[in-house]
Parts: sequence; structure tokens; C-alpha cells
Amino acid sequence: MNEYDTELATGLLIKQGYQLTNEDSEADAVIFNTCSVREHAEDRVFGQLGSLSHQKKEDGRRLILGMMGCMTENYKSDLFKRFPELDFIVGTRNVKDVPRILTRVVEGESRLALIDQEKLGIEYSEFTRHASSLHAWLPIMTGCDKVCTFCIVPKTRGAEVSKPAAEVISEVKRLADLDFKAVTLLGQNVNSYGKDFSDGITFPKLLAKLSEIDGIEMISFTTSHPSDAVPELFKVIRDNPKITRRFHLPLQSGSDKILRRMKRLHTLEEYRKKIDLMREMIPGVAITTDIIVGFPGETSEDFTMTQKALEDIRYDSAFIYKYSLRPGTPAEALADDVPMEEKKRRNSALLDLQDRITEYQYSSLIGSTHRIIIENENHRTSGEVIGRTWTDKKIIVPGTAADTGKILNARISKLVHETFIGERV
Ligand code: SAH
Repeated sequence: MNEYDTELATGLLIKQGYQLTNEDSEADAVIFNTCSVREHAEDRVFGQLGSLSHQKKEDGRRLILGMMGCMTENYKSDLFKRFPELDFIVGTRNVKDVPRILTRVVEGESRLALIDQEKLGIEYSEFTRHASSLHAWLPIMTGCDKVCTFCIVPKTRGAEVSKPAAEVISEVKRLADLDFKAVTLLGQNVNSYGKDFSDGITFPKLLAKLSEIDGIEMISFTTSHPSDAVPELFKVIRDNPKITRRFHLPLQSGSDKILRRMKRLHTLEEYRKKIDLMREMIPGVAITTDIIVGFPGETSEDFTMTQKALEDIRYDSAFIYKYSLRPGTPAEALADDVPMEEKKRRNSALLDLQDRITEYQYSSLIGSTHRIIIENENHRTSGEVIGRTWTDKKIIVPGTAADTGKILNARISKLVHETFIGERV
């Protein structure tokens, strides 16, 4: 979501006459696009903002400092107290206003805050500066109506709102006309799409409609909440070969006690049934997940249950996080009682376990043939191109830049780390 917002803001700034630089020292303005999901992400922004503030104040560097994204919603104008050198903050629903606010700062104003709670928070634009000419990110809903006790998203992004289907469809058609072949639909709970509508458009229905658009060959989505991962959705995936066969479904914990404390709305057993059904209906589907270790009250028995769940479910990969208390979340009322050392130990034990499972899952595919899309040249070795399978796996095959965007079949011959080497068939 943040990558998309950055692409949108960058495109609009360029349209306004600003230039982008990758060199910190060359910049006249630095705008942080921020995330509040974990403490670590915020700490990095605080650190970098602190060091640039220092350059401004102590070294007299002329520099405009701005911030967008969830931290502006989380801390609002308190940010100006902590960082007096900060010139502007722009909320998650105001990305389109970034150029206007920056221009006001250039013209001499300072400490500007624009944080609208009313707007939808999803904007499309012909000026969006896509990082790829083949694949585009596309937010379709934002916010969250769930109540997970660890999560800051309901505070920073607000209630769920969906972009009307007609607008999503016309944006995807526009991207197809520009020769984009792949889109990834984005939302904090992407599969809750449409719950705020009365016209009966649900996420599976939207997927089916988008699959009909000529020119778009690959449709992915992230992130799904388990409670809206329903059989109708699996059926639409099964029936539409354009939709990728990778399903990211955060489990968070293998212990029902912890799932209850997290208010995840499901037990391990209920979650497992969904996975079994998905695997039955969509053969070869690659399932990935998110896990939090060290949630308040997580004993070593609870942790063992999570290890066991990973062993049983055999995800293709997993993001594993150490719990960090987010001020303002319901879990703030629970004692953050797993010591940091223990969180680290559980985190690395799970990473090791998942590495072995990932290797096992990937190795089992050697020898099989897959439909792939060629994304770009392999800059390291000439005569090779990098493709992606419909299960979201990287594969290197022989080819040239002219193959970019082509869809072909490849047989996997080898695995190097998490990249496949294959041949065209
Ligand atoms: N909406 C998705 C989750 C998206 S947030 C869902 O509910 O399933 C991305 C991931 O960040 C979460 O799945 C969770 O594993 C992690 N996360 C969220 N809050 C966290 C916290 N306070 N500490 C550690 N990890 C957290």
C-alpha cells in the first residue's frame, strides 16, 4: 500500500515540476512515507528524521522535511513537538495533496498538517509513477473493521472503505490499454472488499469481472483475513486462470488461547479447514502466512503449538514477527510479558524451521512444468530472463529482453536458494 502511495505522490510531484533524486545529499526536500504496524518501522523513521533534523538545525542545511503515511495519523501534530524541523505532515487520505502542501512550504509556510478523516483514501491517477511497465499495484479497499488486539491499522487507516467496482474496473482497463499485464489488488483486508456496499459486489465477484479484461493476464491480491476467505473466493480462483495461485493468509499463532486473546475470530481447527478446502479446490496453490511470536501471555506450550502448526500446514513461506506493543491498541491493556530475549529466540527458531519447510516445498517442484510470465532480463547473466510462476515464485530461463511480458511454459530443473532455474518447453 505504501509503495503504491509513494508511486502516486512521486508521479504527482513530477507532474508539478519537481524532480526525484536517489541521493540524500542532493535533495532539497525529503518526504518519509511511513508505516506504524511495528515499532521497528517507526523507530527507523524517528532515527533518520532525527539525523536530518540535526543537519538542518546544527549544520544549517536548507532542507524541507515532510511525512506521509500511518505515522502522521498515529502521532498527528505531536510530531512537530518532537521534530520542530519537520515542515509538513499529510495523512493517509491526502496523498493527492502532497504537491500542494509541499509548494506552500516552498513558498515559506511551515508546520503544515493536513489529515482528513472524511475522504476515501484511495486515489488513482494517470500520473502514478509505476516502478514497472508490466505490473501495477492497485489499492481497492483500505482500513479495517476487524478488532485484532495487536493491530494499529483501525486507528491509522480507519474503518473499511472500498473503491466502487466501476472505478476499479475502468482503472484496470486503462492499465491494460497501457500494456500492463499484471495487477496486484491491495487492501488491509483485501477480501473484505465490498462489505460496505449495498449493491452485492463482493471480492470474488470483483475478481471474476477483472478476469474478463483483455490484456491483463495475471491478477494477484494481498492481504486476506481468514474470516473472509470463503469457498466462493476459492471457486473464482479455481475457475479463472489469470488469478495467481498464491494465497497469503495470516495465521498469527497456532494456539487457540493466543488466537482468542488476539481476537482473530477463528480457532486453529477452523483455519485448517479453510486451508484444506483451498488445497482441494485449487491444486498446487502456494499458501503463505504471517506469524507473531511473543504475544502477551504466550507460554512455551503456546509457542510449540505454533511450531507444530507450521510443520503441519507446510507454508511456502512465512513472515515471522516479534510482537511489539502499539500504543492505543487493545493489547496495550495486556502485560507485554515475554522478555525480548525470548521473543528473539522464538523468532529465530521459527525462521529456521520455516527455512527448512520452504526448501522442502520448493524442492518438491523440481521437474514440474509451470506457466510463467517474463518480467525482465537477468542483469547478472546475459542470455537469461527472470520470470514468475502463477504461484509467485521466481524462475530464471534462457531468453532476451524482447521476451519481457511474454507468457510461456517452463520446466523447473534446479533450485538455487529460493530461485528456480528452468528451461523453456
Ligand atoms: N490484515 C491482515 C494483516 C496485515 S498487517 C490480517 O489481519 O491478517 C501485517 C502483519 O504485521 C500482520 O499479519 C502481523 O503478523 C504483523 N503485525 C501487526 N501488528 C503487529 C504488532 N503489534 N507486532 C508485531 N507484528 C505485528
